Amino acid sequence: MKKVVKFGGSSLASAEQFEKVGKIIHADTARRFVVPSAPGKRFKEDTKVTDMLYACYATAEEGKDFSTQLKEIKKRYDEIIAGLKLDLSLEEEFKTIEKNFKEKAGKDYAASRGEFLNGKIMAAYLQYQFIDSAEFIFFDENGDFDAEKTDKALSERLLKEKNAVVPGFYGSTPDGKVKTFSRGGSDITGSIVARAVHADIYENWTDVSGFMIADPRIIDNPEAIDTITYKELRELSYMGATVLHEDAIFPVRKEGIPINIKNTNAPEDNGTWIVESTCQKSKYVITGIAGKKGFCAINIEKDMMNSEIGFGRKVLNVFEDNGISFEHVPSGIDTLTVFVHQDEFMDKEQQVVSGIHRLAKPDTIDIEADLALIAVVGRCMKSMRGTAGRIFSALAHANVNVKMIDQGSSELNIIIGVCNSDFEAAIKAIYNIFVVSQL
Ligand code: ASP
Repeated sequence: MKKVVKFGGSSLASAEQFEKVGKIIHADTARRFVVPSAPGKRFKEDTKVTDMLYACYATAEEGKDFSTQLKEIKKRYDEIIAGLKLDLSLEEEFKTIEKNFKEKAGKDYAASRGEFLNGKIMAAYLQYQFIDSAEFIFFDENGDFDAEKTDKALSERLLKEKNAVVPGFYGSTPDGKVKTFSRGGSDITGSIVARAVHADIYENWTDVSGFMIADPRIIDNPEAIDTITYKELRELSYMGATVLHEDAIFPVRKEGIPINIKNTNAPEDNGTWIVESTCQKSKYVITGIAGKKGFCAINIEKDMMNSEIGFGRKVLNVFEDNGISFEHVPSGIDTLTVFVHQDEFMDKEQQVVSGIHRLAKPDTIDIEADLALIAVVGRCMKSMRGTAGRIFSALAHANVNVKMIDQGSSELNIIIGVCNSDFEAAIKAIYNIFVVSQL
């Protein structure tokens, strides 16, 4: 059995947290490859080391004195080293970082030092081999992650090691510069390492016991999801990003490696399993509910639209030309609605409207703002009668007006559009009907 274990920032924010992590790793010899994040927040108002590094580098870039900021960062690491009683000094590393900051090595380089240094501490603490991600995780000339080149190089390197620490979040470009993934990207590194070593399980350790059925900011103490498929999770991506980076699915998906989200502060909890496919029924008809506010609907009408070949393409072309991605495109016989993120759309709305008029010649275009989309997702909804009926009667009882309904033929999800102001009430109503009333 081979496991790759990734620990998030809050799991590694202090010496005490490191000790919990050490115990977790030593409790199972299969936990052979470790991917650390940078130290995160120790308490609510604390600052993540990654943010301290961005701020420090911004000062350096302005040509101002950044020594105090860098000292504060060093202090964070020195406290961890002292708390763990390690015989390790990061003096030399910080001299190099200072020099590189002065030479303007780049914002990504700066941010990456958070996991680089934490990786050094982790390797010393566990007595594992340290492997610098810049040497084995590659981006191409365009800055896109080069999955195949990375997999080959990293696989060759890691298969030689029994144990290793590979810092999360960064790699390098063909010209040797350090580049990071987007924020939260250590999850992606963990997934890349899991693929490279052909792991049996990718454990992603964080500060919650997995994905909740619904957002805990809306529902008090929601239940955790036991098992969810990659596809379901994608459908729930509105909520996923805070627990797991969306792109972390892709590398492990190539090898069908399950991801287990675990809680460093409650390691005995089962957490959530993310798998390719499963015969396990979820406890409820639905696996999860997620949603987001801040959408705009562009309603386009044209007589005889249904018989006009290419109408949809022309409309969507306009969005593409304006660099706007769409979320959903429900349609009627003479109508087509495009749902977009309001903040992406706002500045370009008039260009889009005139573009659609020019290309697709509709009769009318009407824009409706401040909408929310809610995804009700569940593999058990397939072929199950009455799910949609229960959702809509629950919404009606809660006095929520439904503005849009979209169900794909996969029967994996039902998407509902409501007003922003009805968002919380709608989620509560759906949770209550499927979870609370089933208890
Ligand atoms: N430290 C980085 C961040 O704060 C990456 C990560 O933790 O995954 O975004």
